[in-house]
Amino acid sequence: MAVPEGVKYAIIGAGIHGLSTAYHLALELKAKGKGSGEDILVLDKTAIAAGASGIACGVVRNNYFQPAMRELMAHSVGVWESDAKAYSYHPVGYMQISPESMHGDVGTIYEQQKAIGYESEFIEGEADCMTYMKGLFDDWQAKNITSVLHEKRGGYANNTASIYGLATKAEAEGVRIMTGIEVTGFETGSNSGAVTALQTNKGTINCDYVVVGVGPWVNQIWNYLELPKAVSIKGSDGEMHDGVPMWKYWCLEEGTLGVDPNMHKMNDGAFPPVIHVDSDAPLYSDVDGSLITDQMWGIYYKPDFNFGGIQGGAAPYKVDQEPDKVAVDPYGPDSPDFIVDDNFIHMWCSALAHCQKRFEGKIQTYKKHDPSGGLGCFTPDSFPVFDVFRENVYVVADSNHGYKMLGVGKLVAQEIAGASSELLEPFRFSRYEEGKLHPVSNSPFPWS
Ligand SMILES: Cc1cc2nc3c(=O)[nH]c(=O)nc-3n(C[C@H](O)[C@H](O)[C@H](O)COP(=O)(O)OP(=O)(O)OC[C@H]3O[C@@H](n4cnc5c(N)ncnc54)[C@H](O)[C@@H]3O)c2cc1C
Repeated sequence: MAVPEGVKYAIIGAGIHGLSTAYHLALELKAKGKGSGEDILVLDKTAIAAGASGIACGVVRNNYFQPAMRELMAHSVGVWESDAKAYSYHPVGYMQISPESMHGDVGTIYEQQKAIGYESEFIEGEADCMTYMKGLFDDWQAKNITSVLHEKRGGYANNTASIYGLATKAEAEGVRIMTGIEVTGFETGSNSGAVTALQTNKGTINCDYVVVGVGPWVNQIWNYLELPKAVSIKGSDGEMHDGVPMWKYWCLEEGTLGVDPNMHKMNDGAFPPVIHVDSDAPLYSDVDGSLITDQMWGIYYKPDFNFGGIQGGAAPYKVDQEPDKVAVDPYGPDSPDFIVDDNFIHMWCSALAHCQKRFEGKIQTYKKHDPSGGLGCFTPDSFPVFDVFRENVYVVADSNHGYKMLGVGKLVAQEIAGASSELLEPFRFSRYEEGKLHPVSNSPFPWS
């Protein structure tokens, strides 16, 4: 199919951010009498949901130590709830179950959730935590747990189904989505740095405005835009730290136990919240009793009919390569390099058994023949950058927090239509130089 000669708004990437921005921008333009979805073209080099959004575990939670992240997530949860059916969203809630080293941080999260009216319950002390968890699951047995934050909103959504739901909503507003079109560069004006056209493998497309929502491929597009490969960051010590690489890759490790998802119901027969456990208890093998780790570890899991079992993951690992050298393609399960190995399977299945007796001896059901896991591209502080570059290019770089951030596209659309967003303000690129950094928690995950 030939590409159009020109378009008002070109959006690169048909994942959660590209499509959410497209759909909400169509609504904004219509409401303001400034145009319609027909002014918007979404391009994807592969297919709808071909990137991280199509393989995400799909967890939607509020639990963040950073106030700005929490407020953004509360907004996003509202968007998920606005059309749960189309977004294939399961509002089962979410639990952060933690050891003493995280008790204080999670207590702060609870207090601030109360302050913004986000419903949650906080249980403290080892005995009360055990009683609370056994009240939900009579086989609960995780050790060293001294706080439980039970978020009553949030849950998870089915990855591909939700992205197709979003695409259907965007197309119903007149948005065009073209797949198999790869953006290979940008043309800029002679008097300014603004982008005037996209170069693609199928020809040039003139455009007035560009939105970049390319997930793990952001480093490549960033290079095409000739943006800085390194940044200066003002630290909490007031000192400037120069030459910090703009992008780094981590590999997310997730997988599925091939059991009947119904085996993970609660005592009352209902489906449970998404469970996230961080622990400092020594983790022993469920296979031979050997010590797997005596360091902090963490896992999350949920029963999921979409994945066909108990699906979840553990902490990611850092990819020790320069970003330009990381093979992002082929992506996800197709990658020969960035999928989970036997160490993950052993650790995750043993950790499940550490938490609940029902998972003991289940490692042999793990779906070893379905490759899983995938790359995420992270910013210098591992928090998103939502900002305009080169005058007319809005980069939505979520630092891999993003499937749950369905509401970001709505705010980005409002900003493009002229109303700046207080919720997005803490995520500007200038925060590095200004030292306006987000607080850091004691979680073992780079995204909490
Ligand atoms: C294994 C895994 C599990 C995750 N689990 C969760 C979770 O449970 N909850 C959560 O909130 N987040 C999760 N994440 C993070 C989340 O999936 C991502 O942050 C989010 O999906 C990124 O969305 P996106 O729209 O920016 O990019 P993507 O969904 O990656 O979409 C980008 C699209 O851009 C296209 N593209 C790239 N380059 C070009 C180009 N040059 N031209 C045209 N098109 C291009 C790609 O083909 C792709 O379809 C997970 C990530 C991974 C890898």
